[in-house]
Amino acid sequence: MYLKSIELSGFKSFAKKNVFEFNTPISSIVGPNGSGKSNVAEAFRFVLGEQSIKSMRGKKGEDLIWNGATSEPRANRASVKVTFDNSRKIFDIDFPEVSIERVVHRDGLNEYLINGSQMRLKDIIELLAGAHIGASGHHIISQGEADKVVSANPKDRKAMVEDALGLKLYQYKKAESERKLKKTFENVAQVKALRKEIAPHLRFLEKQVEKLAKTEGLREDLVKLALEYFKREDSYITSAKKEIEEERKPLSASLAKLEKELAEAKEVLAEQGSQEKKEYLILELEKELSASRAIKDASSRELGRVEGLMDAQSSIVRKQQELAASNEHKVIPLKDVEALYKEIEIEKDAPGILERIKAKFLNFLKERRETVASNIIEEAKKYIEELREEKLGVERKQKDAEEKEKKLQADYETLKKEVERAKDSDSSAQIAVFRIMSEENSIRSKLSLLKAREEKVGLEETEFKRELTEIGHLAGGDVLKYGGLEFSKEEGRVNQEERKRTLGRLKIRLEDSSIAGAEEVKKEHLETSERDAFLARELLDLEKSAESLNGLIKDLEDRLATEFKTGLQNINEKFDKLFTSMFGGGEAHLTLVKNELPVEEGEEGEKVEEGLDIKVSLPKKKIRNLMMLSGGERALTSIALIFAISQVNPPPFIILDETDAALDESNSKKYGDLVELLSEKSQLILITHNRETMSRAGVIYGVTMSGNGISKLLSISFDEAVEVAK
Ligand code: ATP
Repeated sequence: MYLKSIELSGFKSFAKKNVFEFNTPISSIVGPNGSGKSNVAEAFRFVLGEQSIKSMRGKKGEDLIWNGATSEPRANRASVKVTFDNSRKIFDIDFPEVSIERVVHRDGLNEYLINGSQMRLKDIIELLAGAHIGASGHHIISQGEADKVVSANPKDRKAMVEDALGLKLYQYKKAESERKLKKTFENVAQVKALRKEIAPHLRFLEKQVEKLAKTEGLREDLVKLALEYFKREDSYITSAKKEIEEERKPLSASLAKLEKELAEAKEVLAEQGSQEKKEYLILELEKELSASRAIKDASSRELGRVEGLMDAQSSIVRKQQELAASNEHKVIPLKDVEALYKEIEIEKDAPGILERIKAKFLNFLKERRETVASNIIEEAKKYIEELREEKLGVERKQKDAEEKEKKLQADYETLKKEVERAKDSDSSAQIAVFRIMSEENSIRSKLSLLKAREEKVGLEETEFKRELTEIGHLAGGDVLKYGGLEFSKEEGRVNQEERKRTLGRLKIRLEDSSIAGAEEVKKEHLETSERDAFLARELLDLEKSAESLNGLIKDLEDRLATEFKTGLQNINEKFDKLFTSMFGGGEAHLTLVKNELPVEEGEEGEKVEEGLDIKVSLPKKKIRNLMMLSGGERALTSIALIFAISQVNPPPFIILDETDAALDESNSKKYGDLVELLSEKSQLILITHNRETMSRAGVIYGVTMSGNGISKLLSISFDEAVEVAK
């Protein structure tokens, strides 16, 4: 047994949580009309991923949620959970039990869970398809759908049979592969278009690159020749400069020497020019000399006079000192005597005048003895001092005069000698100047020749550098690496000139063949060819994957065809058997029909639609088509076909909602027998009002609905069921 239980919560009339346990091969759900039995069948459709709300008798998701009643407010969500036993691994997941749950919210949002984990609808569908259960519901026959398989058109009928045969999974895979193939073809077209788009540009770049290779060859030739040319030119210029310098050095030295000699000779000549001036100067000097001598002599005489005065004063001093010592010839100035007399005159009448005069006189004498002489001495000494000062001045004057005389004398003698000498060298200096000048001229002309050579080499050097820059720009920095090269062969300038001409020609060719932005061109060519190669690889991969997809589609088609063919054979076998047993004879089978469809504009070939027709013949009745069958006969044919299909490829469970509604008692019995037969391979859930059908069930669930509109579940006995079903 695979199906374990279904739990409804807030789903339609099941306002509260209700769990149906399915632990017998046949379970029956019974109850009065409108109690909510069909809601259980729809709960199965819902939880298995049904997307058509219409097939669950609703318009929108909200219609599936308990809508509320006076006793029970409406729910915000409806959830249904179905649980399977997976111990026999009917589902390809590693759980012993698998529960699938779907929840719908009032805003229409759906949630899907597998064992409590959120999943996508796609995951649910894939999981169920693997177990041969699907929302398409070939194993869920809703109320009134019993003759769906009979009344459907051939195309839909074929789809139902394919679904029941489990071919949906292959069809799904085929459709998926076709979708991928279509996408692959689109990608192929896209990649081809991309390659086509870049092809002309790639061709252009290839040509450019070829041209660049030629240019590279020319550049290499140019570099090779330029290296030799530059090396030889550099050596030539260096040695030419060195040669010139070596030749110039002694010439410059000689010239410097000659210039010095010339200056000296000219100096001599210049001196001759100033001879007369010198003679005049000699006369002047002589004059100054005698003036100086006169000053010296006058000073000498002055000195004698001063010294004489000094001697005289010194003898006065001496004499006065001697006199003072003797008192015999002391001189008293008259004015002093007159002053004494006046004093005495004033006091002549005073008493004791004589005594007083005596005293006064004695005092006068005493004073004069000491002072008179000293006054003279003092004056004389003072005078001597003045004379000494004067003597010093005269002596200085004399000395200055002597020094001046000495200098004048020296100048005089030098001048005198010069004048003498100049007279001798007069003519030889003139000759020397001429000689030096002519030698100088000869050296200067040699130097100017050197200068001309130097200028020529300078021009050659400028040209060399210009060429170096130009070729460097044109052919790259390689041409600058000529330094280490060796060219032993000596040769004339003519070869270099020939080389220069060849270089010129190569330059023009290189310039003509040059492509602007060569590096960019190479880079772009590399990128574009890499992109093209990538696209080519991608195209190959896409073509390979298209090939393998085609193979896969072919395999799937083959498999579908074979399995459909075998499946159809088996179904027909069972169908016929069930049909004859139900109708007590006759025959029934499905036939493959092909219906040609109109070909639309732009489409190629013929369009054929395949379908399945039902061919029946009843015993003793002439039936041309199905429309001629009665309602009961149609129901029986449908049941026979549904059961046949279910027998060929039994699904884990089958739900039959009042499929038995149109059967009479004897057919109900046959129906009951078939149900039991089917239950050997699939679990059966039968919604029924039929007593016979109920009697075949191991468990009977009663669904009731009280006045509040809520469906309720009861597990009941057969007798109760018969009662409830009424
Ligand atoms: P019958 O035997 O006549 O076929 P049934 O037992 O199969 O009847 P259902 O058709 O399953 O009955 O149930 C229909 C009932 O479910 C109705 O009473 C309807 O009002 C109720 N119902 C449907 N949708 C909702 C909903 N969203 N909320 C509440 N009740 C709902």
